[in-house]
Amino acid sequence: MIIEPKTRGFICTTAHPSGCAEAVREQIDYVKSQPKTEGTKKALILGASTGYGLASRIAAAYSCGAATLGVIFDKPASGSRTASAGWYNTAAFERFAAADGLYAKTLNGDAFSKEMKEQVVELIKRDLGQVDLVVYSLASPRRTLANNTTVSSVLKTVGAPYTNKTIDLKTNKISEITVEPATEQEIADTIAVMGGEDWEDWVAALSGAGVLAPGAVTVAYSYIGPEVTHPMYLNGSIGMAKKHLFETSLKISKMYPGVKAYISVNKALVTQSSAAIPIVPLYISILYKVMKEKGLHEGCIEQMTRLFHDRLYASNILLDSEGRIRVDDYEMKPDIQSAVSVLWEKVSDLTLEDCCDIEGYWDDFFRMFGFRYDGIDYAKDVDANVSIPSIV
Ligand code: NAD
Repeated sequence: MIIEPKTRGFICTTAHPSGCAEAVREQIDYVKSQPKTEGTKKALILGASTGYGLASRIAAAYSCGAATLGVIFDKPASGSRTASAGWYNTAAFERFAAADGLYAKTLNGDAFSKEMKEQVVELIKRDLGQVDLVVYSLASPRRTLANNTTVSSVLKTVGAPYTNKTIDLKTNKISEITVEPATEQEIADTIAVMGGEDWEDWVAALSGAGVLAPGAVTVAYSYIGPEVTHPMYLNGSIGMAKKHLFETSLKISKMYPGVKAYISVNKALVTQSSAAIPIVPLYISILYKVMKEKGLHEGCIEQMTRLFHDRLYASNILLDSEGRIRVDDYEMKPDIQSAVSVLWEKVSDLTLEDCCDIEGYWDDFFRMFGFRYDGIDYAKDVDANVSIPSIV
């Protein structure tokens, strides 16, 4: 079929297999162009199909030469529907890895479930023996708990409403938005979905089954960002979940001797998850403009290459005063943030083009689904049915 982007709200409901393969190839090429890392040899990546998780898998495989086992939650093509971008990304990654002699297998299903944990343990026992790295990069709007109830996360403030500028991604218009406070229940549910409980369950399952190598490292991702986003993010419902995630890192390191758990604070980037957060996409489009002008812009793969090479596996792991890894260091540089603040005050419908990298935002958005790649003929018929080699 001929596959074109079809957007609905802040998601794209189609994905292009050749474009997604190109996205993965570009990321692999980037890592190949960088110095190698003496790091993980066998890595488990939870949430491995898009965004930071996919980039972590590529960095593990191509910077460290690791065998990678990925857990994804994606859909194959069916009827007139294309597969999800994460499905095509994973299919491409496995093919590139096989061509380069790297082990790569993937399990598709709900990472929150007990069944998935059991399947992963079995596969590790059968193929790898043990893993020495566990990347926890799930971003989900909901989680089905062990008692079969499903809870949802919300992107709201805590305490008081917060009003600020936002961008309507459908019309590219600036407007004011008031984000309402979450209820106690919504905060608890957001912590259940995006906090550290499931991360800890994974470590317990892997450690209990003896498939975590001595000295194993596990890392989960977080975000801090500038003050304009704090009521929404850092101090909002998602921030409460991230606080729980951080506390879980301390708990894991304490409870599982020989396992070191880290939080890496990453840069704000366009991913399928960040597009859903009010206020943040406007901030990101201003940030992109400033960071590109200063030559400091990075995407997921540059961030994860730096995380693996310069932080996680550096001889001296650099942590902030609270013990977190920071690869948001360029984003949070005072000169970057003061330039962003000036543009934030100035931005309006009339100054949008001057203040924001709207084109860059939308390029990244469409590229997440395999569109806007040079060299791909989007008018050409393409087979949407692509298999992931390890998924039969
Ligand atoms: P993303 O949406 O690109 O990736 C999320 C991944 O989780 C996908 O591969 C998805 O398929 C997978 N997933 C979701 N539910 C699942 C389930 N039930 N079972 C298995 N897999 C599941 O998002 P992202 O932005 O890369 O986010 C990853 C992490 O990075 C999150 O913790 C997020 O908060 C954090 N982070 C993101 C940003 C940003 O700006 N995007 C910045 C800092 C930190």
